[in-house]
Amino acid sequence: MRDLPMRIYDNSPIYFQNLFASVEGYRRTKSRYGNIYFKYLKELGKRDYSDAVYEKNYQQQELQKLVKHAFEKSPFYQDFYKGIDISSIKTVDDLKRLPVLEKEMVRENITSMYTIPENSAIVSHTLDSAGIPLKFLFTKEDMQKHMAFLDFFKKQHGVTNLEMKRASFSSNRFIPKRQQKKVFWRDNYSSKQRLYSAYYCNEKNAGFFVENLDGYQPDFIDGLPSALYEVAKYINQHRIILSFHPIAIFSTAETLTPQHRREIEMAFDCPVRNHYASTEGAPFITECPKGRLHYNLSSGIIETTIDKEMIITGFNTYGTPLIRYKTGERIDMAKDGGYCECGSSHPVVHPLQDRGDDYLQSKSKGKFTALYMSMASSRFSDSIRKIQFIQNSPDVIDVMIEAAESYTNAMTESIHEEMVYIFGSDMRFNMRIVEEIPVQPNSKFRLVINNLNG
Ligand SMILES: [Zn+2]
Repeated sequence: MRDLPMRIYDNSPIYFQNLFASVEGYRRTKSRYGNIYFKYLKELGKRDYSDAVYEKNYQQQELQKLVKHAFEKSPFYQDFYKGIDISSIKTVDDLKRLPVLEKEMVRENITSMYTIPENSAIVSHTLDSAGIPLKFLFTKEDMQKHMAFLDFFKKQHGVTNLEMKRASFSSNRFIPKRQQKKVFWRDNYSSKQRLYSAYYCNEKNAGFFVENLDGYQPDFIDGLPSALYEVAKYINQHRIILSFHPIAIFSTAETLTPQHRREIEMAFDCPVRNHYASTEGAPFITECPKGRLHYNLSSGIIETTIDKEMIITGFNTYGTPLIRYKTGERIDMAKDGGYCECGSSHPVVHPLQDRGDDYLQSKSKGKFTALYMSMASSRFSDSIRKIQFIQNSPDVIDVMIEAAESYTNAMTESIHEEMVYIFGSDMRFNMRIVEEIPVQPNSKFRLVINNLNG
């Protein structure tokens, strides 16, 4: 069930929804783009990134601040670091004396990791690769610094967010389910942004998106690569020459495959730039103007195990400190940091992904990656232990839920409603509340299992 303001929104005319998107956008803008953001963005722009000594020093200071903060403010870390002299942790090498934070520990202890009460925090819901919903709390400063890093990355490619016209392909749900008109976008005037709904961005509708984009003429585009790919395919297949030329396109939230990149760059005749920035607050990994990925030393620390597993420390995680957190993702670090013609002393890295994102197939609306499933269920982190989505036939999806004590039938209804919104009403969803989701033999847990393709 959608809450009351959203039900009013759903039943309002589109001009009102644009206004609502702008007011809501303004509210978010204020918490994300305040004084700290502007101050930090300016500071990031002034630095000389070729100065390796300064960059490493800065990183060291940030590390000391974060460790001290976690130890003093987080009950979990007080206990976790018991018997360790925190003041002796000064360098990235010293960091190795602190224990590694495994995923299971975070799942079990997350509420005692928090350093601030939820009502004063910016809350971020995530669903990890094991299907476990988690709630991370961020301070206002965490969020604004995060946004500053993101926009500094865009600035390196000639784009100024909030000043330039932006088109975003978004997984937010702002198009009401019952809408008949082919109007799949809303305006957020407060940030010069037009939001395009990724839920409707499929082969059937791509033409409407292209026509609208061509009228809007954005300076830059960002969003989900799977949605942008549909638009790009349409442009290329119909040999459309756009009347505008974006400065750059920024891929977010999903895996950007080489195929996505080729198709999108060809359609829009501009570079696609990739970055990795997790919702938990991991250090930023961003593409530079020379097309290489650098790990940003000012945003955190990345260590690797012998198996190339990442151990991350995030400097924008004061609300839920993450220090030496083993994420389960893998990365290749260039030897000795690697040289790049862009001049940056920040290490060159190659994230390792075996394949693209897992997805499920809708009968009439195309493919949806695991990201959408996470949108549908992650906010029930207090009531769901684990969740999994399985598709064995084109018109049915099984949703397996391991419920916690506070789980209610209304949540089943709510997730079911989200599934109908994503996949359409011509499909069925078997909502199954189970004691324990069975583990597949010989394979690790996957959030999304698609058995359609053999
Ligand atoms: Zn570079």
